[in-house]
Amino acid sequence: MKIYAASSWRNHHQPELVRKLRQYNHEVYDFRNPKPDNSGFSWSDIDPNWKNWSPIQFINALMTDISIEGHKLDQEGMEWCDVCILLLPCGNSAHLEAGWCMGRGKPVCVYIPDTFREPELMYRTFIKNNIPFPFCLNFVEVLQFLDYVQNNYMPTRDEGLTFAEYQLKSWEKRAKAPDPVFLPGLGLGLTGEAGEVADLLKKVLIHGHDFNREKFIEELGDVVWYVSALAKAKSIPLIEIFKKNLLKLNTRYPNGFSTRESIERKDESR
Ligand SMILES: [Mg+2]
Repeated sequence: MKIYAASSWRNHHQPELVRKLRQYNHEVYDFRNPKPDNSGFSWSDIDPNWKNWSPIQFINALMTDISIEGHKLDQEGMEWCDVCILLLPCGNSAHLEAGWCMGRGKPVCVYIPDTFREPELMYRTFIKNNIPFPFCLNFVEVLQFLDYVQNNYMPTRDEGLTFAEYQLKSWEKRAKAPDPVFLPGLGLGLTGEAGEVADLLKKVLIHGHDFNREKFIEELGDVVWYVSALAKAKSIPLIEIFKKNLLKLNTRYPNGFSTRESIERKDESR
């Protein structure tokens, strides 16, 4: 599984946890080494005097390139993972990460190998219908948790995928093709799948077939896959497409569709 190990630089169990998980063939995002040439984010890279910052200095530091890059790597790790392990003791950052993962429908395991700072009622948040007991006291229990998740966990409807997660995960399934034909291939795929949607409609409207909801969902999904991949190939987040399309529709039809406004196309004269 893909695991985000959320913890603290001060937690001496963290490197061992990462190493052992990898021994068991899990992929792990390690904030100490997020990339081969990167030894992780550190406030002291921005200012050796960071411990004495005022609130304003802290907020300014969040806007620096070092912060932006450090946060981007962690955020991508959170988007990428299937599961988050919150290794105690740890600080605000790891708890925010675990909360974000939970909010995105990813199971969170609270691993307490020895000491912990204080009881915290909100850890109950990690108990979900299909994750009945997310607390582990040793590595064997962590493995059992991961095994349970792998075999039993299904995100519930209200914990659905984000566009970003869909785009990232679906992109991993693309067929490799040489550069000159990769993008045209996606374009052909999109029109091919749109054709399959049209074919289903034709069968219902003209050939008298029953409407097959599951098949319709599958073919629309194929169309979405190609839209997502074409966008990803050009580094365009799916959400940007949805937002801009909605903006265009709101500008063109502020009170809903009308023939006059469809001819006027206000959005194109902006
Ligand atoms: Mg298809």
